[in-house]
Amino acid sequence: SGSASASTIKQVKLERESELRIEVGSETPLKLRLLNGSAEIFGSELAPEIWLTFPSRLKFAVFTWYGATIEMDGTTETDYMADETPMVSYVNVHAVLEGRRNRAKTSSPNDSEASQGPRVIVVGPTDSGKSTLSRMLLSWAAKQGWKPTFVDLDIGQGSITVPGSIAATPIEMPIDPVEGIPLEMPLVYYYGHTTPSNNVDLYKALVNELAQMLETQFAHNAESRAAGMVINTMGWIESTGYELLLHAIDIFKANVVLVLGQEKLFSMLKAVAKSKPNVDVVKLQKSGGVVSRNAKFRQKARAYRIREYFYGLANDLSPHSNIANFSDLLVYRIGGGPQAPRSALPIGADPVANPLRVTPVNIDQDLLHTVLAVSYAKEADQILSSNVAGFIYITDIDIQRKKITYLAPSAGDLPSKYLIMGTLTWLET
Ligand code: ADP
Repeated sequence: SGSASASTIKQVKLERESELRIEVGSETPLKLRLLNGSAEIFGSELAPEIWLTFPSRLKFAVFTWYGATIEMDGTTETDYMADETPMVSYVNVHAVLEGRRNRAKTSSPNDSEASQGPRVIVVGPTDSGKSTLSRMLLSWAAKQGWKPTFVDLDIGQGSITVPGSIAATPIEMPIDPVEGIPLEMPLVYYYGHTTPSNNVDLYKALVNELAQMLETQFAHNAESRAAGMVINTMGWIESTGYELLLHAIDIFKANVVLVLGQEKLFSMLKAVAKSKPNVDVVKLQKSGGVVSRNAKFRQKARAYRIREYFYGLANDLSPHSNIANFSDLLVYRIGGGPQAPRSALPIGADPVANPLRVTPVNIDQDLLHTVLAVSYAKEADQILSSNVAGFIYITDIDIQRKKITYLAPSAGDLPSKYLIMGTLTWLET
């Protein structure tokens, strides 16, 4: 009919040790493939000629060690080449970690010290590339056949499950550049808020539980012990945030601390490590490709993450809407429960609520649009120390008929009737 169809296909030739940084447009996905040479996305190698489809708004880089030609089909917000990257320093860290894994593997499994592989913790301010570096180190290790454990302590933008959680999962294959961390059997604890200041004691208590559980698993599994862990942390590095970092370093017995993009944090941690001869603190450059995300973007990213949990990245999951009686479900919250009235306390005592107290929640309209965790607890007093099976989303509360409608990832009964409520909500869009 005469209208020229503008092709959106474009080829990009990348020189060795350079990367193509891409922000996918906000409307449509972007297709991309490797035409020749070799390239990787955050440590995961691209198969030749296979088209990959990246969802809108995703930010990533295609890096090549030896040169590559990339083909793209679709629109991007931005795409540009960069030949200055910190990748050589990152892969050097990987090489050191490999050496430690090999040493751990050849040590006697009865020597619990020597047979323990590297426990790496990645710290730095928000948007310094912590998650991305964690991902590269895990994918490079998995490519060599290791099964390192990924621990994600970032309740704001977690990459294992819904926000408000801390979690761990073994990484058995390089992480898929589109799908991200596989969701198979993660070990998840639900904190219920997206900032630790809501209940610092609870956050710490859950970090302790997670660490203890991993310690138990490692004790029985020489393979995961030798592969070690990579721990991603929150971007909160001031005051209490800094204390929480020190707490995590201690509790997980981290022996490699990677500090991204902050001189002050590096020197503080370096000073602390003086008294800990087994802990290496390493300063690494932040990549110029890391994209800063403002509070609004973060908020949106959290909502997408919850949506992804129920519906899948490409709307490929079909969650089930279920109806239950109020009496079928037991909803609890941790901390922040009703405080004792001042009159009931000794004179001079402050009516501070116990931050770890587990209190039952009355089912009412306040539950609408909340995201609740399904605990593995069998009794209420096990809630604090139990991990969770998954999450449900409350879509309707019928006070009159005492019915609750919720979305769950699958049909059938919930694995438990013990539910944990925090302040995490979601408006399905
Ligand atoms: P942090 O975990 O420190 O908050 P991230 O690792 O999540 O930071 O990085 C922030 C954003 O920048 C993410 O969307 C990530 O995909 C993107 N990003 C990181 N490195 C690059 C890069 N080299 N090129 C393009 N985008 C990048």
